[in-house]
Amino acid sequence: MKSPNNLLAQTGTTIFTIMSALAVQHNAINLGQGFPDVEGPADVVQAAADALLDNRNQYPPMTGVAELRQAVAAANKRFYNLDIDPNGGVVVTSGATEAITACLTALINPGDEVVAIEPLYDTYLPVIKLLGGIPKLVRLNPPEWSLPHNELAAAFSPRTKLLLLNSPMNPCGKVFTRDELNFIADLLEQHDAYAVCDEVYEHLVFAPATHIPLMTLPGMAARTLRVGSAGKTFSLTGWKIGYVSGPIELVSVVAKAHQNLTFTSAPNLQRAVALGLAKPDEYFTALGSTLAAKRDLLAAGLTRLGFGVLPADGSYFITADIAPLGFAGDDMAFCRAITAQAGVAAIPLSAFYDSDGPANFVRFAFCKQDSVLHEALARLQNWITPVQTLTATA
Ligand code: PMP
Ligand code: GLN
Repeated sequence: MKSPNNLLAQTGTTIFTIMSALAVQHNAINLGQGFPDVEGPADVVQAAADALLDNRNQYPPMTGVAELRQAVAAANKRFYNLDIDPNGGVVVTSGATEAITACLTALINPGDEVVAIEPLYDTYLPVIKLLGGIPKLVRLNPPEWSLPHNELAAAFSPRTKLLLLNSPMNPCGKVFTRDELNFIADLLEQHDAYAVCDEVYEHLVFAPATHIPLMTLPGMAARTLRVGSAGKTFSLTGWKIGYVSGPIELVSVVAKAHQNLTFTSAPNLQRAVALGLAKPDEYFTALGSTLAAKRDLLAAGLTRLGFGVLPADGSYFITADIAPLGFAGDDMAFCRAITAQAGVAAIPLSAFYDSDGPANFVRFAFCKQDSVLHEALARLQNWITPVQTLTATA
């Protein structure tokens, strides 16, 4: 028999699925895959339930229901003073995952170079490669996850079609600063390149850090596609409603990709998300402050246990250096060990690299109830103490 698509046949199952399955198998607290363990806002969930029963369950418009496109445009204006046309500048997708694939599909021709920053979210590379794009990867440097300016500049060439930027960034919680974004914007102008900005964690940012969409910088609105996710903004990750905002010239091509990927997504969820995006400012600021307290709780606990905890200014995640613990094994072995033996799951950071990633960092999700975070820390302590005692006496 002829072989199926080579690239997909070689692509492994996502690390999030692997670690969540392992967590279930060992009845472990899942600090791996990033999802909150409390329900999203009750009024948004109720709106989705009501909208199921109002006889509007046939295909919604291809680019999204009008009220959600208007709400996305209004949110762009309210939070970032961005002018987005609700009739042509927005495409609603089945999650940011589809949005990113649609944006990449809209821009990449085979042979185009795509600059991306490691550690990177695990759907990026397979999609770039499937489209025939050539990834040009630049690594951030721990512990600060600083952007190496010279290496980024060197990754650009006359063949660069776009930069794929994730800020706030999964897995390392980095929020790109205005200076970094200015540097990036200059490179995009110089090379006449586009930007696809994965901003799913736009509202999950911890003061004093602030999220600045690249699209707000001078000259960037015409060359940027900005991606958001209702899953993150409303703590409803299973809903899979995402949205792309940008200039009509580009978004119209994204719509062509979307019409061939999913065409549209569930109308009741779209209507409920429209209601959510109109919530008062306090809702959005509380997201960041609530999560910041959880980050502090987990970071302090992991530090006490001997992990080298790295800074995180946004997202659901912190990364921690396991080298100080003296564990004999790499990040994957460590994550398997704590899931099976301590009853706490995490994600190995090397999964966010094309190859040869660092082997001594793991990612913990802190979007959990405080009691769950305390319990996870207690379990890790029970596991680590004997390991450390053994190492000390060895
Ligand atoms: N991008 C990043 C950086 C993410 O962490 C996620 C997590 N789910 C996604 C995209 C996908 O978002 P969605 O669930 O809306 O598809
Ligand atoms: N974005 C989530 C994470 O980084 C996982 C999403 C998924 O499992 N597809 O943990």
